[in-house]
This record gives sequence, structure tokens and C-alpha cells, in this order.
Amino acid sequence: MLQPVIGLEVHAQLLTRTKIFCGCSTAFGAPPNTQVCPVCLGLPGALPALNRAVVELAVRAGKAFACRIAGRSVWSRKNYFYPDLPKGYQITQFDLPICAGGAVDVPGLRKVQLTRIHLEEDAGKSVHAEGGSEVDLNRSGVPLIEIVGEPVLRSSEEASEYLKALRLALVYLGVNDGNLEEGSFRCDANVSVHEPSAKLGTRVELKNINSFRFVRQAIDYEIARQVAALGRGERIIQETRLYDHEKNETRAMRSKEEANDYRYFPEPDLPPLVVSPAWIDAVQVPRLPNEITAGLLAAGVAPADARTIVGDPRLAALHARLGDPRRAAHFIVGELSRALNDREVNLDALAFEPAQVAEAWALQDAGTISSTGLKEVLAELIRTGKPPAQTVLERGLAQVQDLAALDAVVDAVLARYPSEAGKYQAGKKTLLGFLVGAAMKELKGKGNPSALNALFRARLGG
Ligand code: ADP
Ligand code: MG
Ligand code: ZN
Repeated sequence: MLQPVIGLEVHAQLLTRTKIFCGCSTAFGAPPNTQVCPVCLGLPGALPALNRAVVELAVRAGKAFACRIAGRSVWSRKNYFYPDLPKGYQITQFDLPICAGGAVDVPGLRKVQLTRIHLEEDAGKSVHAEGGSEVDLNRSGVPLIEIVGEPVLRSSEEASEYLKALRLALVYLGVNDGNLEEGSFRCDANVSVHEPSAKLGTRVELKNINSFRFVRQAIDYEIARQVAALGRGERIIQETRLYDHEKNETRAMRSKEEANDYRYFPEPDLPPLVVSPAWIDAVQVPRLPNEITAGLLAAGVAPADARTIVGDPRLAALHARLGDPRRAAHFIVGELSRALNDREVNLDALAFEPAQVAEAWALQDAGTISSTGLKEVLAELIRTGKPPAQTVLERGLAQVQDLAALDAVVDAVLARYPSEAGKYQAGKKTLLGFLVGAAMKELKGKGNPSALNALFRARLGG
């Protein structure tokens, strides 16, 4: 049985405001060639100056994945000719990268070893249109880390699980925005097959894969192609192939024989990159998705719910602010997800304060509303941000036997304190607390404060 082996190379754009060797903006989507200067255009005589923020992000990633961080790493020139590379070379790190070793923890799989993480600059973008090709150099000089994984993945499924875990970790780290469509997270896949008893087979490098689905399809196609070729007694040649997702096939791009000789040599315009142990120590690493998931599981959140919540950093941040982890998880994967799916709600602009969700739970705990009532209150809260007590009142959600009892007490209190009630109506709003307090005394502390608040307000108008 031939065993597939896969090793991935990931290019992740670093979340800095400016480029790696100049002050130009890295913002995506600007009109072509508006975010450029002599340095990133590669004009003669322009000199690069390293952006400190880039180093911090690379070190943060390196620490998160337990890499060895090099106190001294070296910049190299990778020379090749292409229209989107005006300098004729890319500044990268070759034999002395900033991070070496390390591993990515992949849920449900195992630790996947890394070879290295190095820093480099991005090239520009060729835009192929009818009537000719055009070049946009806004991306030229945008900072990247290349994360080179060891050849230890055994299926397209494992490869895509690894990629998802890596992507999510980088997003939580604030290192990368994880956007495959805009190309800020890109992947090349190296694929080979071998008899498990023999050494690794010859690898083929697949380029041009920009979705998790295409990663799986491209790898599966390539494994099948290699197995079939070997079955016919052919040899696999080391080459680079392009994945065509429309035809779902890979096509030869260049073979090893015609492969570029990049003529790497040390970059003369930049000194070696030196980072002190103290500086490396000072780089903060936020909690990784796996740690957050472990915390949720320990708090009794169901594994599937934990996965959903941690899968989106915005949901995880919301969850952390809701209190009562299990209940908060139900709320997020239940009511909130439904509303999000119905597109009634935009997660980036939620109308409610997280504390209001806890308020709604308190109403149910106090017996003021039923569990169906709670659903209604939460749905309204998610959609409009309306305070729970107000929804209870407007929709008559307070449980009947409760409401009657509370109502009678409110009556009695208003009859006993007509002048306070009058002053409240005249504008002295602080008297609401007095009236509620009086009712609470009457109820021996068993009344529901928010329901009483709502009842008094309804009776006194506001
Ligand atoms: P290159 O610059 O030629 O692509 P790199 O060292 O940057 O070389 O990347 C090599 C990548 O290929 C790594 O991700 C590694 O895991 C993978 N790889 C190496 N050998 C094999 C193999 N036999 N089968 C599958 N993947 C491999
Ligand atoms: Mg490569
Ligand atoms: Zn520039």
C-alpha cells in the first residue's frame, strides 16, 4: 500500500500597518500602485529599513509554536525575474531564519512539527486581463512569514485540519487576518507517496490553492495521479504543478531541471537581524485556541459547542464576557447562531451589552419568565438591543401567577405612597428605588426586582 506524505508551506501576511522595509501602507483594496515608494518599487539607490513590528510578530508566532528563536538571523536575496518583482530579487531569510523547529497543535490529530518560520517580503501582483497583463505593486514589500511544515501529514484531511488549526492560531495571536480569499493566508502543498517500509518518495509541489476545499481536492488529485503513474511503472519527477480548480486537476508548471536557480546570497543592504534574549522574553503571547478550548471543556461546555465558539475569535470574546460558561455556550450556539444564520444580525455590530444577557437569565431564574419567554427576550435583545425587562413588559411575558401577585403589591404600595408616586411622575426618577424597595419589603424580599421595576414604570408612565 502506497502511503501519501504531505508537507505544507504557508505564507501568512503579518498584521502591520506598514510594509517590511518602508513606511507604505499595507491596507488591502487600494487603487493599484498607490501604496508604493522608491524602496518597495525597487528604484536604484533606495535602501530598506526594517520595520520593528514585523520582528515582534514573527517572534510571537515562534514563541506560540515553541520554536527556537534565533538571536541572530540573516537576510538573503532570492533572485528571479518576474514582472511583479521590480527589484529582480526578493529579500527573505535562507540559511539562518528567525525561528526553527517547533510544532502546531492540531485538535483531534497530534502535534505537527515545523521546520522553520522565516520573514520575507511579498512580491507585487500580476493582473491578467483581456488585452494584456497589468502589474499592481501595492503588495510589493508587504511583510510575510513563511511557515514550513515537516513532511508528516498523511492525508488531505490531515493537511486541511493542520491548516485550519494554524490559521486560527495565527488569528488569535493577532499575527494574521486568516483571509484566504484576499490572499493574506496562502498555501503550497508538497505531495509524495511511498511504501511505508521505504524512504520518502519524490515530492511534487502544488501551487495556487486558495481555499480549504481546494487544498483537499488538489492533494487528493495529486495522490491519485502519483499512485496511478507508479502503478504504470512510471517514475515521479520532482516538479511544480499548478492546481486548476475549475478542471479539478494539477498541471505541470516547471520541473526540477528547469527550476529556478535563485542564487541566494546575503543581503548587503541590511545588517543581520539581532534580537536580545530580554527582548524575546518581553514579547507577549496571547492564549491560543487550544488553551481556550481546554478552559471551556473544564467548565463543562460540550466539545462541539466549544469548537464552534473558539472557531470564531469574536464569539470567544463574547463568551468570555457573558458569565456562566455552559449557559453562555448554549446562548451562543443556539439563539445567537440562529439569528446570525437568518442574517438578521451582524456579529461585528451586536446591539446588546453582554451584561443584558445575564439579566435575561436572572429573569428566568427569578421565575419572572418561562424558558420560552427567555427565548423571546433573548431574540429581541439580539435583534434590537432592547433591555430584557422592557421586552417582558411589552410582550406580557411575565408569568401570570407571578404577575398577579406582584401587581397587587404594586397597587398597595402606590395607594400607601401617593405623594412619592406623584413626585416620581413629576420627574424625580430616583424614587423608583424607594417604591420597589417598599414592594420588596411587602413581598418579604421574594419579589423579582426587575419585574417590579418594570411594573412600576408601566404604571407610572416611564
Ligand atoms: P522549497 O523551497 O524547495 O519548496 P522548502 O524546504 O522550502 O523547499 O520546503 C520543503 C517542503 O516540502 C516542506 O514543507 C516539506 O515538509 C515538504 N517535503 C519535503 N520532502 C517531502 C516529501 N518527500 N514528500 C512531501 N513533502 C515533502
Ligand atoms: Mg517551496
Ligand atoms: Zn514603499
